[in-house]
Amino acid sequence: MVFVMDHCKTGVYDNALAQIRKAYKFIEIDENTVKLLESPKEIFMASLAVRMDNGKINVFPAIRVHHNDILGPTKGGIRFHPDVHADEVKALSFWMTFKCAIANIPFGGAKGGVAVNPKSLSLRELEHVSRAYMEAMADFIGPDKDIPAPDVYTNETIMGWMMDEYNQITRKQNPAVITGKPINLGGSQGRRVATALGGYYVFRELVKELGLDKNITIAIQGFGNAGKNMAKFLHEEGYKVVAVSDSHGAAYKKDGLDITSIAKAKDARVKGMPSKISLCDHCEGATEMTNDTLLELDVDVLIPAALENQITKENANNIKAKMIIELANGPTTKEADEILKKKGVTVVPDILANSGGVIVSYFEWVQNKYGMYWTEDDVFKKLEEKMMTSFSQVFHSMKKHKVSMRTAAYLVGLKRIKEAIEAKGGHEWLSK
Ligand code: NAD
Repeated sequence: MVFVMDHCKTGVYDNALAQIRKAYKFIEIDENTVKLLESPKEIFMASLAVRMDNGKINVFPAIRVHHNDILGPTKGGIRFHPDVHADEVKALSFWMTFKCAIANIPFGGAKGGVAVNPKSLSLRELEHVSRAYMEAMADFIGPDKDIPAPDVYTNETIMGWMMDEYNQITRKQNPAVITGKPINLGGSQGRRVATALGGYYVFRELVKELGLDKNITIAIQGFGNAGKNMAKFLHEEGYKVVAVSDSHGAAYKKDGLDITSIAKAKDARVKGMPSKISLCDHCEGATEMTNDTLLELDVDVLIPAALENQITKENANNIKAKMIIELANGPTTKEADEILKKKGVTVVPDILANSGGVIVSYFEWVQNKYGMYWTEDDVFKKLEEKMMTSFSQVFHSMKKHKVSMRTAAYLVGLKRIKEAIEAKGGHEWLSK
């Protein structure tokens, strides 16, 4: 078997570095800090040997990256996807470092993944892959060391299995070792919808700033935890979601889709498994199209909520939306970013737009450590406060430096990280 993790290059990490390099010239930052931020602290790789239902053993490459822990224990999701590789996970961990810094929560950045197609597994096999991941990575994970959470094709059931595995290994109850777990195992109220709700708060503020009204049209790529819940919030608030998509394809309806019934159909699945249902089969009166066509629709707002590298130099010129809310991590390449800027498209960057997930994960960790649990109303109120603070700091930085919202967001995060690195003792100490 080829161990794909270590030599595949997707350009995603280069993309992440290109983003932060635009921010350096607006802030006094020394070369040592730059070196620390541009290199992940630790990378762990493993081959997960799992006995399949047919009795044979399959081996799945797995990875966990700790990017930077200056602000606290590292935090980041675990992705199960056939295309997972080191370059991508490094970038995702890098974005987590900045996301936590912008949200001003005491975590560093991490990410993990397994190169596996979970849709091809039985529920038993999925549980074994999940437990094998925790068994392989348990030494590098812990409530005060590195705290995983769900990401693409992982979910609260998987987080529950992983927490149980960790507890068996350590012979202790450690609810704070993982977030996004089931509520009856110590999960937080509101975590399920937190990424989308945080994105919705940012959308709401930006709509106000740009003076847009309720008649705007919205297209969403990806209909999982992030995309589906965002579609639901927008639909409930009376906005017109005209297009949605999943890995099978996209559906478009000029007058707006019935998001409630599409979501209901998509959710009819085996608990714990990713949905294999195609949403196109449940969009009455809609036109079917490809994911690529959805991105280029004549809409006001585009919300990528699936994978990286979706808006590229090939299609950026054809994007018609005036506003892009990046619920997915890394959906826009560096070349596309430049094209969108020239076109005057407002892009709300991933490190701000999707930070609601890690914010409520932080709340879950706090509740686990404290042993006291909050109501959903408490969680939403605290999330709204945090999102509004981050949004206004980024917006202020954008106006002050006359930069894109992405560079402005990096500047907010970079300031906190740099000050923490310097507070631990920096170059001035050596030069004295
Ligand atoms: P998910 O597994 O719940 O859903 C993924 C969705 O993307 C599914 O609808 C799937 O059909 C669709 N998809 C997969 N491949 C696709 C393709 N090639 N084209 C179009 N759609 C495709 O995952 P999620 O948690 O919603 O994550 C989506 C994005 O949001 C990822 O970039 C993730 O890193 C980011 N994110 C998620 C969270 C969270 O809390 N879940 C937090 C922050 C960021």
